[in-house]
Amino acid sequence: MTQLNIIINRPKCIAAGNCIETAPETFALDERSKAIVTNPEGNDDDTIIEAARSCPTDAITIIDAETGEQIWPEE
Ligand code: SF4
Repeated sequence: MTQLNIIINRPKCIAAGNCIETAPETFALDERSKAIVTNPEGNDDDTIIEAARSCPTDAITIIDAETGEQIWPEE
């Protein structure tokens, strides 16, 4: 399992909920209806990356913590 850094650009989050639907053990909405990471290892890597891809505003950035490579959004 890769160590992923998950960064949420909160101003970009529109509370669409796609990330939570896809990876409910990793993401949640806080009381301000902005996504937060509840557990960076809550779902497997592919599911977390899929959740980031499902965000309509690209508010979730995923970085490989070992290499520093940005996995999503693709650069
Ligand atoms: S999918 Fe994107 S816009 Fe929707 S809750 Fe998650 S971070 Fe926010």
